Amino acid sequence: PPGLYIVATPIGNLGDMTSRAADTLRRADIILAEDKRVTAKLLAHVGAKAPMTAYHDHSDDYLRERILGELGSKVVALVSDAGTPLISDPGYKLVRAARQVGHSIYTLPGPCAAIAALTLAGLPTDRFLFLGFLPSKAKARNEAIEEIASVRSSLVLYESGPRLGECLAALSAELGQRDAAVIREISKLHEETVTGLLSDLAQRYAQAPPKGEIVIVVGPPPEREAASDDDLDDALRASLARLS
Ligand code: SAM
Repeated sequence: PPGLYIVATPIGNLGDMTSRAADTLRRADIILAEDKRVTAKLLAHVGAKAPMTAYHDHSDDYLRERILGELGSKVVALVSDAGTPLISDPGYKLVRAARQVGHSIYTLPGPCAAIAALTLAGLPTDRFLFLGFLPSKAKARNEAIEEIASVRSSLVLYESGPRLGECLAALSAELGQRDAAVIREISKLHEETVTGLLSDLAQRYAQAPPKGEIVIVVGPPPEREAASDDDLDDALRASLARLS
């Protein structure tokens, strides 16, 4: 049926394209892409031939209106360069606009670097906060970290190789000693997971920025130990002793 199809694509290994995603791209009348050259390769791989239009959330309202005009009668597929659209990628404004007008929206779940990294890190996954890319300027980045320092959940961040060292240093300075993992090149030839304390990872990558695409996962703050009845009795006895 016509509507907006949010299509997740591989984050490195073309084998991770789902058959439903490939079918949808082959059936699509229009494919909205972030970078048409990147998506052209994927379309060639799955044998999809629909025309592409470049779409970003900062595309003008006129383009969005034009796309909305097609959704009632055409299959419009949104992809990003890699992974799940809308996750640190364009699409949110388009989905919001399509929802407001009442168009059909379908999602085709698939690869997402944040979720893949969580499955590799060996850190708690029951609660996590996705931070996307932190601001690149030091002051704004430190403020962003400070704001979430007391949140009792794992943190997931995207970062680039050249900025990894300073990002880890800032996390270590604001959050203290926490377990963390640096996960690189998921599903590609040079996939690598390095775990350790934030301070150790900051040191390791300070002088040697790694190549490739990176996700940082940081564990939650250490549990404050709940006081037992014995602890309370001891504290009470100590206070009474001081009084007498
Ligand atoms: N929408 C994408 C998703 O679902 O993962 C994320 C897009 S965001 C613009 C790109 C960032 O995702 C990269 O800078 C990197 O932090 C992370 N990323 C993407 N592919 C990755 C991979 N194969 N391994 C590790 N991180 C990856």
